[in-house]
Amino acid sequence: MIIAIDGPAASGKGTLARRVAAAMNYAYLDTGLLYRATGAKVLALGGDPDDVDMAVMAAEKLQPEDLENDDLRREDVGNAASRVAAIPKVRAVLLDFQRHLAKNPPGGKHGAVLDGRDIGTVVCPEAPIKFFLTASVAERANRRFKQLQEKNPAVIYERVLNELEERDARDSARDVAPLKMADNAIHIDTDRLNADAVFNAVMAHIRTHMGEDD
Ligand code: C5P
Repeated sequence: MIIAIDGPAASGKGTLARRVAAAMNYAYLDTGLLYRATGAKVLALGGDPDDVDMAVMAAEKLQPEDLENDDLRREDVGNAASRVAAIPKVRAVLLDFQRHLAKNPPGGKHGAVLDGRDIGTVVCPEAPIKFFLTASVAERANRRFKQLQEKNPAVIYERVLNELEERDARDSARDVAPLKMADNAIHIDTDRLNADAVFNAVMAHIRTHMGEDD
């Protein structure tokens, strides 16, 4: 079983996907981390995330421990991630890893939950259950701002908003695997829903689907 959860930055898909994976006892992959770790590697080498050769090399050299760096959550890393993510060869390098994990969940688990931008459209178009989360950019900036403020009280709201808008535009406009809802995904607008309400709605859909499959 593969559950795909896509949506723009800070739409709440990560929190949701983690909870769904725990509830179902499925493996979980935050695919954004792969792009973040690639972007972070390029930045650490003093490179430019738009430099194709360097970004591809960074993607090819990724190691599991590269995904465990707290700095990956920073907004500048998110920005570098969305730049390397627009390079087709970087996406091709990271695709196999994502598909392999989806089809062979580690730890003998019976399924996997993947969250990202293109899980339902490109990585696992065959996934039987797909969700697409959205929220207004103001609401998403607000959520991200509060998260960042816990770690850094000096964070500026307008910067968070601008970075999100820039990232949304780049992720939606790129030629390869742009942020787009799969035709058969269930759309959930989370503007007026808290995390529990979104989780409950998603679990209800999953249970209905599994019941129908029996
Ligand atoms: O989800 P997150 O904000 O961590 O993703 C960081 C960046 O990685 C996104 O802005 C997007 O450009 C890229 N990404 C992607 N495809 C995915 C997941 C993330 O292009 N499946």
